[in-house]
Order: sequence, then C-alpha cells, then structure tokens
Amino acid sequence: MLEKIDHIGIAVKSIEAARTFYEDVLGLTLEKVETVKSQKVKTAFFRLGELHIELLEPTDDSSPIAGFLAKKGEGIHHIAYKTDNIADQLEKARSSGCKLIHETPVPGAGGKEVAFLHPKSSFGVLTEFCAKKG
Ligand code: ZN
Repeated sequence: MLEKIDHIGIAVKSIEAARTFYEDVLGLTLEKVETVKSQKVKTAFFRLGELHIELLEPTDDSSPIAGFLAKKGEGIHHIAYKTDNIADQLEKARSSGCKLIHETPVPGAGGKEVAFLHPKSSFGVLTEFCAKKG
C-alpha cells in the first residue's frame, strides 16, 4: 500500500549551482548529500514537512541522469511514493501490464530500497517506489 509521496526528484547539472535557489530563495535546509554509485548519481535532499526534494546530478556521462539532461534538460525527473511493501507494489504494477525498469528493488539513497516504473507505462511520469529496508 502506498503511504505518501516521499520525494520529488529534480535533475540538475550541478547540485552546487542549484542548491543556492533551494536554500536562499525557497529557504529550505540541505539535509544530506549522498552519492548512489549503482545509479551513477549524486543526490541532495532538502526537507519540506513530510516531503523531500531530491536534486540529482550525474556522476558521469553514462549516468541515466546524464541521458535525461541531454534529452530533456533540467527539470522534474521523477515522483517517489513510499510504500510499506515494494515487492507487492511491483507485482501489482507488473500484473496490470506496466513496464518496469527494475524487476526487483535496488539500493537507493538513505539506505532505502527503490524501484522504478517505465514512464511510458505511467503517463509520462517516471514513477519510483521506495521503502525502508527490512
Ligand atoms: Zn528518488
């Protein structure tokens, strides 16, 4: 079952350049910066109430975020839903005919498990499920 929107992912060329906007203009606090090697991405999380804004910067040219930036430029990359059971959520999506990017969860930022649905199956919005490990 989905519990809430966990975070909104925003692709940027440079976290260092973008953080000024989130900190100085919006007044959000940077909680943590973390590199997720498996996704070839550097992430920065800003908290806003129950929700986080996740900035995503590619760590090299073969990163999926580098591909996104080349194709679409900077902007909203994905919406992440927190679920109490990521395997159930994936099964429900699969059995409904959705194309999955991850058949099984992969390690994400913050020690979470994450899995993505293909945006072609979710009306143009790259959709992430995330769950605490365990
Ligand atoms: Zn995310």
